[in-house]
Amino acid sequence: MPASPSQTGRFAPSPTGPLHFGSLIAALGSYAQARSTGARWLVRIDDIDPPREMPGASDAILRTLEAFGFEWDGLLRQSERSERYIHALDQLEQAQRVYGCTCSRKQIAATATRSAAGWVYPGTCRGMPTAPSFAHRVVADGNPLLFVDRVRGTQTHILSEETGDFIVRRRGGWFAYHLACAVDDADGIGEVVRGADLLHGTAAQIYLQQLLMLPTPVYAHLPVALGNHGNKLSKQTFAPPLRDAEPVPQLLAAWAFLGQAPPPARPASPQDFWRNVIGTWNLAAVPRKDRQPSQPAYA
Ligand code: GLU
Ligand code: ZN
Repeated sequence: MPASPSQTGRFAPSPTGPLHFGSLIAALGSYAQARSTGARWLVRIDDIDPPREMPGASDAILRTLEAFGFEWDGLLRQSERSERYIHALDQLEQAQRVYGCTCSRKQIAATATRSAAGWVYPGTCRGMPTAPSFAHRVVADGNPLLFVDRVRGTQTHILSEETGDFIVRRRGGWFAYHLACAVDDADGIGEVVRGADLLHGTAAQIYLQQLLMLPTPVYAHLPVALGNHGNKLSKQTFAPPLRDAEPVPQLLAAWAFLGQAPPPARPASPQDFWRNVIGTWNLAAVPRKDRQPSQPAYA
């Protein structure tokens, strides 16, 4: 099936450490969804946060993806896309949607309220000019923002209540994840398939795309793999890295975790796995709820 440019998926790891079972679910789900629909699939390294980066992680991630049989049509690095983010910030500034914020963490903790999404910034600095050394915030809207997630259904968010004016450029000049992600996903990605831990940020990203008059992709948020204590598997909770030497059992476990029917016979290699399963991928079978993997995928 020839893929049109709008049929492009992506996997967007941050190079803060090696991939773990939770990352495999996002990689596998986005890959299966792209490949089974004839779409292209890109790897985007989200390296706009140098202080959090781990030396060598970006190479290790690509080696692991290769060992697991993923084949990408393109490789992007956010660190090489600053011009686009600067252009987007300029546009927001011209539209008078951003302002400079000099609040310290302490001040925010003292003045902000909390929502399920975290702190709600009360807009203390609204109207302040921007300056390179200040954080930049975008004015959040009070209108309900609605989108249909292909796994979790209709989502409604009121940004002014859930996050308040949120940061698009951090103090010290780093671009914020929402800005970079919104701009990059609008640049040819037709469908974003990723973990539901990122679901709460989707509204902010769509909001930015709307302000910037950019297209918005379709979203599908996959269930999050929980550890033994019901916590999300992540680098922060020391989820064990994927083992490059043994990809097949881990691929099978991730496939089962996403509610997919097992291949007829035990695959001999990752390539064999992909050949056998790609035609059977069914997004409708993906569970909506976060849960613990039933197979010992990462013991
Ligand atoms: N790089 C971010 C992460 O790994 C975002 C990924 C995404 O938007 O898919 O959490
Ligand atoms: Zn402020």
